[in-house]
Amino acid sequence: MSLAHGRTYLAIPGPSVVPDAVLRSMHRASPNIYEGELPDMMPDLLRDLKKVAGTNGHAAIYICNGHGAWEAALANTVAAGEKVMVLATGFFAMAWSRIAEARGIVVDVLDFGNGGTFDLARVEETLRADSAHGYKAVLAVHVDTSSSNRNEYLPLRRILDELNHPALLMADCIASMACDRFEMDAWGVDVAVTGSQKGLMCPPGLGFVFFNDKAAEQRRALKLVSTYWDWTQRAAPEAFYQYFSGTAPTHHIYGLRTALDMIHAEGMEAIWDRHAALAGAIWAAVEHWGQDGPLRLNIADRALRSHAVTALSIGKPSGAELRRWCADQAGVTLGIGLGMANDDDPLGEGYFRFGHMGHVNAHMILGLLGVVEAGLGALGIPHRAGGVTEAAKALSAV
Ligand SMILES: *Cc1c(COP(=O)(O)O)cnc(C)c1O
Repeated sequence: MSLAHGRTYLAIPGPSVVPDAVLRSMHRASPNIYEGELPDMMPDLLRDLKKVAGTNGHAAIYICNGHGAWEAALANTVAAGEKVMVLATGFFAMAWSRIAEARGIVVDVLDFGNGGTFDLARVEETLRADSAHGYKAVLAVHVDTSSSNRNEYLPLRRILDELNHPALLMADCIASMACDRFEMDAWGVDVAVTGSQKGLMCPPGLGFVFFNDKAAEQRRALKLVSTYWDWTQRAAPEAFYQYFSGTAPTHHIYGLRTALDMIHAEGMEAIWDRHAALAGAIWAAVEHWGQDGPLRLNIADRALRSHAVTALSIGKPSGAELRRWCADQAGVTLGIGLGMANDDDPLGEGYFRFGHMGHVNAHMILGLLGVVEAGLGALGIPHRAGGVTEAAKALSAV
């Protein structure tokens, strides 16, 4: 018997759960784009977005998904024929590198695999060898949503500064912004990108690029930037349409306004703490279940785990079967494994992910974990019973 009827829960790493208040604020007649409330709300919207990113620099909004934000960041900083370094700890860094390649950029990928973070010695060595300063940017994903590892920027900043290397430090914060602590200016990040549909709790459709004066200078040195991708006017427009290089994403703006109000009412520190506590509950449950069975967290080192997404392995076909059971029997959709397929498991059916980013709280996470424990039992997948109790203990200790 299916018990899925009722409110469904999309527990995947984006799109995330959209708060009812955000949905309500979007449910309105088309607003006037010539004057009044909508154009007037833009300066405060940019100010509050930059507060989320931890920057006093500039912000540009695009009508696009994360892939568009990747494209925008590169279009404004690196010309075809120039070179970038990509530090890869999962599928998403590789995908960003392919976008760079398709723009004619020469890409050197340092691949550190799917299980941890960068080898800083290797990064330093590669940058030191680049005494001619061929690298125009170092691209690093903050949280790689496929492996669910979290990387640090301060050590990268330190290496660039010590070598006096002028490459821009560029951050993909699409899975982490407003979930995991990120402080763009304090960490010396020059360009950061994110999207609306993860920690920012809005539907997919907006991409954001934050950049500092150094990056703006690098933009000015480029000969060719298409009008659409150019961030200059978007970040400092003289007319409302220039924020978007065309028609505004009217309803998304209202949704984002409400989401930013919710974010700043809770407070960035409190949001980061909430995500950390909920992630801790998930880890406690999974580590307990895994003591008598195949379930494992992909990232073994706690310090390197995202607080917004968790990648797990369980062996094929159990990952796919568990996902199917949770959706059909309980109304909870888990994320597919991404970028984890291998020769023994070409479809990646032994992997799955939990998204726990944005508008999620303790009862949702305990519900999610309860459903997973029920699914493990129903499917006869070996595990040590009582993971949910461990999650509850972790939360009551917070
Ligand atoms: C989701 C995500 C992307 C891609 O975003 P889309 O909106 O799907 O284009 C890129 N990088 C990271 C880290 C992500 O989590």
